[in-house]
Amino acid sequence: MVKDVFVKTALNKHRKRDAWFLDDYSLNPYQLCEFNCVYCYIRGSKYGENTKHGLAVKINAPTLLEKELYKRARKKEYGFIALSSATEPWMYIEEKYKVTRKCLEVIARFKFPVHCLTKSPLILRDVDLLDEIDKHAVLPEDLKNKLNRGVLITVSLSTLDESVAKVFEPNSPKPRERLNALKELIDNGFYAGIAFMPVLPFISDSNEELEEMVKTARELDVRHVYFSPLTMHDAGRELYFKVLEKYFPDLVEKYEAIYKKWYPEKTYSDQFFRRIINLCKKYNVKLGGK
Ligand code: SF4
Repeated sequence: MVKDVFVKTALNKHRKRDAWFLDDYSLNPYQLCEFNCVYCYIRGSKYGENTKHGLAVKINAPTLLEKELYKRARKKEYGFIALSSATEPWMYIEEKYKVTRKCLEVIARFKFPVHCLTKSPLILRDVDLLDEIDKHAVLPEDLKNKLNRGVLITVSLSTLDESVAKVFEPNSPKPRERLNALKELIDNGFYAGIAFMPVLPFISDSNEELEEMVKTARELDVRHVYFSPLTMHDAGRELYFKVLEKYFPDLVEKYEAIYKKWYPEKTYSDQFFRRIINLCKKYNVKLGGK
């Protein structure tokens, strides 16, 4: 069951802008997430294993956002808003609640730029508003000469293999559906790219699959592409290992060996990035942004 919650603030101001995603703020119209990806870092002791349990609509987010952006705009504190950092803004219930859409209407009115992070083709519903934001957003001073766009879009994938996605992203739209949506966004002229994050060690990181990922980025002519291997925070570790034991029991030891901490051991990650860099050179794909 989806609850309605009333929150005290809508916008989170970040202490430091993220070098990849360029966001100064983040906005999460929902609490938790229907997509329930096994590797998601928002799960944990507070909410339990399933990110659908406790799913809630921040019903007053658009009203609060209006007040918050009014003040920020008066002080000219423009900056990219990440939509979203701890939920999927275009999950299935958004079709009914439209909180993300209402927030976009407010963002468009106050001319803030936005970075959309999504796994969902439902983003296509909002291209009218995104187009308006893209054309009229005011960029922060230090980005004005570097980037002439008010909307950035990043579609995330952890694998291109539908059967692996079914295990690790059980309720998310299929990888092919996400890529089709991305193509449509690019064809519509949006500055859009892919985050292959998290790539799953020994599961979606074979040379063949990494090559397929880089080729996909080339073929779609994305504006940016990021890669990162799985990070395993304490909150999600137990569930991830449970899923490994069930579907990939032979990999449990290998994971224990490389995940002594939250990030894979240096030998693994060095080799991972070396392979990505070589593939990007081979296909003339620029890592990061164009
Ligand atoms: S879509 Fe994103 S926020 Fe939702 S469960 Fe998956 S990783 Fe977490």
